[in-house]
Amino acid sequence: MNKLTIATTGLVVAALLAPTIASASTISVKSGDTLYSIASSNNISVSKLKSLNNLTSDTIKIGQTLIVSDTATSSPTLTSSKEYRTVTGASVLNVRSGPGTGYSIVTTLNKGTEIEVLSSTNGWYNIIAGGKKGYVYGEYLSAPRYESTDTSTTFPTPSANTQNTYYKVQSGDTLWSISTKFNTTVNNLKSLNNMTTNTVFVGQNLLVAQGTSPTVSQPTSPSPTTTTYKVQSGDTLFSIATKFNMSVDSLKSVNNLSTNTIYVGQVLNITAPTGQKLFIRPAEGILTSGFGPRWSTHHDGIDIAKNGDVQVHAAADGIVTRSYTSDSYGEAIFIRHEINGQTYETVYGHMRSGSRAVQVGDRVKVGQFIGWMGSTGHSTGQHLHFEVHKGLWNATKSDAVDPELYTNL
Ligand SMILES: [Zn+2]
Repeated sequence: MNKLTIATTGLVVAALLAPTIASASTISVKSGDTLYSIASSNNISVSKLKSLNNLTSDTIKIGQTLIVSDTATSSPTLTSSKEYRTVTGASVLNVRSGPGTGYSIVTTLNKGTEIEVLSSTNGWYNIIAGGKKGYVYGEYLSAPRYESTDTSTTFPTPSANTQNTYYKVQSGDTLWSISTKFNTTVNNLKSLNNMTTNTVFVGQNLLVAQGTSPTVSQPTSPSPTTTTYKVQSGDTLFSIATKFNMSVDSLKSVNNLSTNTIYVGQVLNITAPTGQKLFIRPAEGILTSGFGPRWSTHHDGIDIAKNGDVQVHAAADGIVTRSYTSDSYGEAIFIRHEINGQTYETVYGHMRSGSRAVQVGDRVKVGQFIGWMGSTGHSTGQHLHFEVHKGLWNATKSDAVDPELYTNL
C-alpha cells in the first residue's frame, strides 16, 4: 500500500490490552494534496473522508491532520444490507425503463442471473444488473438474499448445501484471478454467469459455485492483478511485455513458456505491475464498460458512470495537451504525463458542455478538478470515457492500454 505518512493515535498498549478500543490512522496534508487524492490513496470515498473529519467544505490546509481510516471494528456492525434476488420465473426477463409494461425494454436477463434490488413499488422492482438499472416485475424473482454493506470483507460465507455461492468483484479482479481463487476455470465462470465476454466490473456479483458443496475456500491474500491478452498478428513476446510493463522473462514464466514462440490467437496471462498503480480513479461511479472488444468494434478505454453532479479529476500530475470538442469524444481533455521516464496520455471524454476547467498548456496536479461528467459527443448517457495511452495518443489508438491495469479503481 502506498500510504502517506501514517501515525496511529491512541495508546498502542491500551489497544493491545483492550482490542475494542478504536484506533485511527491519520495523515498530514502536504502541498498538492486534495481531498480527492487523499481519499483515493487511502481507499475511501471523499464523503467518508469528510465525515471522518467533520469537514463541511472541501478546503484543507497544508499541515492539517486528517483521519483517513477508522479501525474501530472489533466486531463489524451489520447496520444495513443489500438485497439480491435471482431471476427464476422466466427464461428471459425483460428489464424496462420504468415500472410497467408500457416502458421500453432496456436489457434482458437470463434465468439464474442475480440482481441487486434497489427499491420496489406495486410489484415492480427497481434493480441493477450488469451495470444497468431498470425495472422488472417481481413475480419472476426469487426470495431475497441479503448481504451486509458495512463489513469490510465481502467474501461469501459458507451457507447451506443448496445455496449457490457468489463472489463480489473487487478492484483488480479479472475472471482469471477469480477462477483461481475459487478453484474453477474462466470458461466455467462464464457459463455459470451467462457471460459472452471476459469483462467483469467492480461490484458485480458472480456465481462462482453452484449448490451442493458448502465449502467455500477463503481467497488467500491479494495476488497480483492478472488479465489475459490474445496474441495479434505482428506481436512478439517483447512487444507484448512492453505493452504491459513486464519483462519478457516474467511474461514467459507466467505462461510457462520455454521458448520465445507465440502464435496469433494464443491467450497469454498478463500480470500487471504490482504495487502502486500510476493513476487514480478519475471519477466516482461504476464501471459500465471495460477495455477491449465491444460489439463489433474495440473499446479503447473504460466507461465510468454516475448520475448527478460528478467531478472529473486529473488521474496524475501532467500537462493539458487538448481541451476541445470533438464529434466522438464530445467535450474532451487530454493530459500528458511523464512517469518514471515513460510518457503517458490520458483522455477524458463526454464531459458536460461548457464544464472544462483547464486549457491546453495548463499544468495539473493529480486529483485536480478538470470538469464535470457529462454525455456530450457519441454517448447515450452520462458517463466518463477514460483512456490511457502508453505514449502519446494517436488516431489509431495503437498505444491504448487497459486503464484497469494502470488505475487504482
Ligand atoms: Zn467509452
